[in-house]
Amino acid sequence: MRAGQRLVGFAGLYYGRPRWLRPEQLRRLQLVAAQAAIAVDTRQALGRERGRADVLLAQERTRREFMQIASHELRTPLTVIRGYASLLEEGSLGEMPPAAQRALHTLMDKASEMRGQVERMLLLTRLEDGAAAQQMTELDLRTVVTDAVDRVRPQVALKHGTLHLELAAAPLTVLGDPERLATAVDNLLQNAVKFSAGPPEIEVSGDRADGRVRLVVKDHGIGIPAVARPRLFEKFYRVNDPELNNVGGTGIGLYLVRQVVEGHGGRVEVDSQPGQGSAFEIELPVAVEGPTRA
Ligand code: ADP
Repeated sequence: MRAGQRLVGFAGLYYGRPRWLRPEQLRRLQLVAAQAAIAVDTRQALGRERGRADVLLAQERTRREFMQIASHELRTPLTVIRGYASLLEEGSLGEMPPAAQRALHTLMDKASEMRGQVERMLLLTRLEDGAAAQQMTELDLRTVVTDAVDRVRPQVALKHGTLHLELAAAPLTVLGDPERLATAVDNLLQNAVKFSAGPPEIEVSGDRADGRVRLVVKDHGIGIPAVARPRLFEKFYRVNDPELNNVGGTGIGLYLVRQVVEGHGGRVEVDSQPGQGSAFEIELPVAVEGPTRA
């Protein structure tokens, strides 16, 4: 039995007594053998594909587990490094010479960058895992944004930039997972710093209209070419620009932003002018306040 040029098996006929087959009987038998060959070949191919799919699945599981373990294991020592670095910065461990202070700023900056990366890896594995549910609670988005802004301020200061924050006077209550929302806002802020060629000028505003909470992170950085905008929120997508060669990243930040925001029933959009800057806008539904019972 052949499938194309490949021998996939043998079909044998045994008779009690010797006999000759007529040519058309022989042709019929050859036809049956050819059909059996197709069936055997298809089955073997299916088996090979299943084997390959199982190997790929196992590899994917291992990759996810590795990312999860690696990010978990990095998180704890990083917290300690950042803790000691900020003690040094505050002067709690004694006076530091100016050169050491400058080195410390860079150390803090790089530790924050690593923290961002670790948080992104953790969130990515959690989202891909699907098992870890969102921890939804009623929260004031102003707190999430203020904390995120405080986290990014040292990076803005290091690049001699400015960050202007304008939040509504009344609470911006949403039903959300505070950790995931924080990672989303961190990502937008870090991008605003990263993709500004000179000192970053960032404006963050949060308000509420028509039953939606709106958060805008606007920068005056390098902007995003129109062709890149439709793919911006894809996993691992990065704008292919030789000028960006020295800007580090993995292309998962905006993917996570969209996953988180859409997981909260919201949407994220971008408006950008190359050379002038970008504005990312997140909209989330306002949480129904108080008991709705009559
Ligand atoms: P990463 O920052 O790790 O490259 P992201 O998913 O956060 O990944 O962003 C994807 C790409 O979108 C970036 O590589 C960059 O080219 C572009 N981008 C994101 N935010 C901005 C911004 N504020 N200004 C200009 N380009 C941006």
